[in-house]
Amino acid sequence: MESSPAATVSAGPGPGPAPADLLRRLRARGAGDPVTHVERVPARAGVPAPWPSWASEELRAAFTGRGVTAPWQHQAEAANLAYEGQHVIVATGTASGKSLAYQLPALATLLADPRATVLYLAPTKALAADQLRAVAALELEGVRPSCYDGDTPRAEREWIRRHSRFVLTNPDMLHHGILPGHAQWSGFLRRLAYVVIDECHTYRGVFGSHVAHVLRRLRRQCARFGATPVFVLASATSGDPATAAGRLTGLPVTAVTEDASPRGGVTFALWEPPLLPSDTNSSSPVPPQATGEHDDLRQVRRSALRETADLLADTVAEGVRTLAFVRSRKGAEVVAANARRSLDDAVPGLGDRVAAYRGGYLREERRELERALLHGDLLGLASTNALELGVDLVGLDAVLICGYPGTRASLWQQAGRAGRSGQEALAVLVARDDPLDTYLVHHPEAIFGAPVEATVLDPANPYVLAPQLACAAVEAPLTPADLVLFGDGAKEAVDQLVAAGALRQRPTGWYWRHRERPEVDLRGEGGAPVCVVESSTGRLLGTVDGGSSHFLLHPGAVYLHQGVSYVVDDLDLADGCALVHAEEPDWSTHARDVTDLSVVSVRSYVDAGPVGMFLGEVDVTSQVVSYQRRRIATGEVIDTRPLDLPTRELRTVAVWFTLSPQSLTLAGVQPADVPGALHAAEHAAIGLLPLMATCDRWDIGGLSTAVHPDTEAPTVFVYDGHPGGAGFAERAYGTASAWLRATRDAIVECGCETGCPSCVQSPKCGNGNNPLSKPDAIRVLDVVLANLPQ
Ligand SMILES: [Zn+2]
Ligand SMILES: [Zn+2]
Repeated sequence: MESSPAATVSAGPGPGPAPADLLRRLRARGAGDPVTHVERVPARAGVPAPWPSWASEELRAAFTGRGVTAPWQHQAEAANLAYEGQHVIVATGTASGKSLAYQLPALATLLADPRATVLYLAPTKALAADQLRAVAALELEGVRPSCYDGDTPRAEREWIRRHSRFVLTNPDMLHHGILPGHAQWSGFLRRLAYVVIDECHTYRGVFGSHVAHVLRRLRRQCARFGATPVFVLASATSGDPATAAGRLTGLPVTAVTEDASPRGGVTFALWEPPLLPSDTNSSSPVPPQATGEHDDLRQVRRSALRETADLLADTVAEGVRTLAFVRSRKGAEVVAANARRSLDDAVPGLGDRVAAYRGGYLREERRELERALLHGDLLGLASTNALELGVDLVGLDAVLICGYPGTRASLWQQAGRAGRSGQEALAVLVARDDPLDTYLVHHPEAIFGAPVEATVLDPANPYVLAPQLACAAVEAPLTPADLVLFGDGAKEAVDQLVAAGALRQRPTGWYWRHRERPEVDLRGEGGAPVCVVESSTGRLLGTVDGGSSHFLLHPGAVYLHQGVSYVVDDLDLADGCALVHAEEPDWSTHARDVTDLSVVSVRSYVDAGPVGMFLGEVDVTSQVVSYQRRRIATGEVIDTRPLDLPTRELRTVAVWFTLSPQSLTLAGVQPADVPGALHAAEHAAIGLLPLMATCDRWDIGGLSTAVHPDTEAPTVFVYDGHPGGAGFAERAYGTASAWLRATRDAIVECGCETGCPSCVQSPKCGNGNNPLSKPDAIRVLDVVLANLPQ
């Protein structure tokens, strides 16, 4: 049965129903109760602090003039630490005013010392431009803030280098422009007092590891000129920010995490769409159209998109201004279209109050949308995250989040859209059929309790370290002291570069031997990037790293770029180019690969009786062999098509566990069921790793086998999908018991009988999700957890 929205409609954007009443009505529509948890996030009054005594009258007046009457406690605390010379990271929620924490000490220093300079790094040009506006608006004498990035006209660059004392840039520009040109920047670097690293949680994985070395290169150049700047970092809420910031900068960093800014109250519900009866009737999403006996990724839960569309229709019918966040643009359109249809069925014309927002709108169009929503002409909007980049929507009564957005930071960022000034608001997270979503709706403490995900990076990755050391050697010959600066693995990497003929050792250090600088892309990993080109126009849409190109750009793949959908016509690996055309089919594509793995070395292990837990290097050989087309609206599998792509080799880092066959027999796993048990445990473990590390399940791969030739035992491997590893497997090893306990709980708590995409099935399985045994996976994990030290 399809639910229809309530017949009564309140007209305008007046105060909607109280969130608790609204939620009660929403959850009463169906048969069962889809709500697994309701959290009242109370309103919080801000805790102001006095202006630091060192902040001059002029500086205070400038901030007061911009409406800042006093800093909040956390801003003052971080500012004081930084001013005292301690490296500090402020890791608090969205809109908690992190910028004041670094603006205060940086600007106070610029005003007090007319020679001092500040370097500000943002992950995007747009954010740097925002910050420039904010700093410039303070109109402080002699600061001369300026953006220095790829768009800066040549004519202005020299002026900036000579005269600006607050330079805003990004890591790419630091890497490609400022550090190689350090001679021209010597005046600026010599006087550098602060380095500000904004949104530093975005520096994760391989990219984060590269940025970590770019910062070490910056510190090295500063040291050559006699400067030792203080680092001030700002991050979204994250687990263990001090450690992550320490890895990023290579310095001891103090964390400030207590958010003292005010916020409105939110009623936050976790919503699990109901399981569909197995003898599904025609009113529900079409059951699997199996395309091969091993190919049925069965849909047993109602799709999150359908559920979100119904909720959107219901809230709009109540006169509640609602924003629904959907991961893809096509998904957002499906949600909006379904909600419109339900509303028009109830009250013809009411559907017009719902729209889909897509990326790429012009500025005027965005302003018009904001206006329509503000005045209540529009009550419901379904959007991708594109909205986070440029539309200012405040004062919504409800936010629907279709599928966990990947991190708590994004979740709170999206939920933070709800709530007009001082009013209570409703937020609903609708779970997708995915093990992580399933786990989260049954473990609210993982969302509302202590932050769990840490920003993970691995500066010791030799695939990052060697090219970065080469860049450093071009900037100045490497010395033994530099090996300490660049950390673990630096000596080995230098030896490797010497052996490869890139560096020459002389008594005064290691020298770069070539005329040209090495080509190092901070985001590059595993082979040259593949260019994505629109055939009809020849326009370059973007690049995809070589490692992901087989997955994302195989012929027939649906490729999303800034919310616009393209279909790949041809992937030319020799030319490093994929030809695409704009098209929005009703399906998404899911590539599948087959994998072989061998152990190269063991870095660390835990011997736990019948169970062994290992971290080490592995060689992975994989081949993308086919792809599935699935209907976006329902998840229904349309077909599976073969692909003809070459195999790829990857040396990376893996975490793996072994079990003795006897322990499995004792636990009740029949020998014939061991492959299915391990396979199911592997899928769920991969699905849950993003809970421990800020990775995506697409960043990691897995392999399980009843007997592996290198371990001679039943084994489950989980490996980093990036050459040399990005820190994810290492993080998994470090949190193994918590990670595998969450994995076990997610499987146990899924209401399905034999396994579904919410627990043990994987959308990217190379074996078509066969064999899989859900009950035996639980037994496997119980054996591991019973033996593994906590
Ligand atoms: Zn399940
Ligand atoms: Zn699999």
